[in-house]
Amino acid sequence: MSAQLKAFRCSFLDFVDDPFYVSELESVRYIADGLLVIENGLVKELGDYESLQAKYVGIEIVSYPGMLIMPGFIDTHIHFPQTEAIASYGEQLLEWLHKYIFPTERKFQEFAYAQKIAAIFLDELLKNGTTTALVFAAVYPESVEAFFTEASRRKLRAISGKVMMDRNAPDYLTDTPETSYQQSKQLIEKWHKNGRLLYAVTPRFAITSSVEQLRVANQLLDEFPDVYLHTHLSENVDEIAFVNQLFPENEGYLDVYDRAGLVRNRSIFAHGVHLTDAEFARLSEANSAIAFCPTSNLFLGSGLFKIEQAKSKEHPVKVGLGTDVGAGTSFSLLQTAGEAYKVAQLRKQKLSPFQALFLATLGGARALGLEDNIGNFEVGKEADFIVIDPRSTELLAFRNSEATTTLEELAAKVFALMVVGSDRTTYATYILGNLAYERPN
Ligand SMILES: [Zn+2]
Repeated sequence: MSAQLKAFRCSFLDFVDDPFYVSELESVRYIADGLLVIENGLVKELGDYESLQAKYVGIEIVSYPGMLIMPGFIDTHIHFPQTEAIASYGEQLLEWLHKYIFPTERKFQEFAYAQKIAAIFLDELLKNGTTTALVFAAVYPESVEAFFTEASRRKLRAISGKVMMDRNAPDYLTDTPETSYQQSKQLIEKWHKNGRLLYAVTPRFAITSSVEQLRVANQLLDEFPDVYLHTHLSENVDEIAFVNQLFPENEGYLDVYDRAGLVRNRSIFAHGVHLTDAEFARLSEANSAIAFCPTSNLFLGSGLFKIEQAKSKEHPVKVGLGTDVGAGTSFSLLQTAGEAYKVAQLRKQKLSPFQALFLATLGGARALGLEDNIGNFEVGKEADFIVIDPRSTELLAFRNSEATTTLEELAAKVFALMVVGSDRTTYATYILGNLAYERPN
């Protein structure tokens, strides 16, 4: 046997299909005593330990008794420069940006500072079991350089980009259509598909970009067809009113991006809290994705995302979960999934534990168009996975004391992790089959 083989024995949970559209029996894969075999950082095989063990005699097996291995979490919307501004009190979106966020992001023109915060940020992701993220940097190219440098050191699959903003923000934080084009182009040429890294053209939102700059974003997408578009959409009612005022000739918020050519496959729009049915239908038609960011939407008082409308049969939209730190209040996608459940509750809708977990794993991979690379344990996928401790606190040990045999019992256990779990729930995080984080105690 080749020395590149590694194997892990544990319980395994992943998704093979979308539990919003097919039954849990058809979408959830649970192996109570499984063996995951990895070759050169990729999934070689996952199956029952009993049936596979004879095939891999002599391979060293790492066992995690009592734990649960899942694919690494995928955060489809987060801001690394806002790490230090998490939990900033008292404002809604537009005032919060001016009072807390813009002054914070100013610090990221300095590479060394940006690198220091990027390291803290990425370690926080790993600690919470997040192995892929779509990340806002700041307006300064140095912030993107710093982020990609640190993500690359950790061999993470990460997507980021320089923020484009040429109006309605302090002078120190604005670029121009021309400089945003040149800087984005240089960063794309250097970092897009550099190892596991990918680039997203990142206009902050319609309020801070002129029509000329939105056209430049479109030009970049035309010139580099496999980069992403990452922006905010329809988060807050005052924001939407301001957009309507800035773009009176357009038919609503999404239409501003649409007429600029930015509503595409590989476009990811954060929030979409106040989208109309027609806007959901347009996103579905364009194969664009939404990042649902419940902790942020609650924290900034933005509103309640209509998950059932996004995941309707008539016009299904790809949806992932985003923590949206620093407006979001946790780096943990498990906690974010728990808050997504509560948002659904407030709208008298049900979001099942498996549906919520799907959004954080395979759903996120599909939202990012990375379902051929990550999101579950299909053969050939990149072996980014996490070891979850269902008894990570005394309360959880008490709550999850029963053994799990049925899918229903597993759902109850997973749900408890979403509702009362913490960063302690992540026992270990593996990147390409290598240990990248282990809980200290
Ligand atoms: Zn955001």
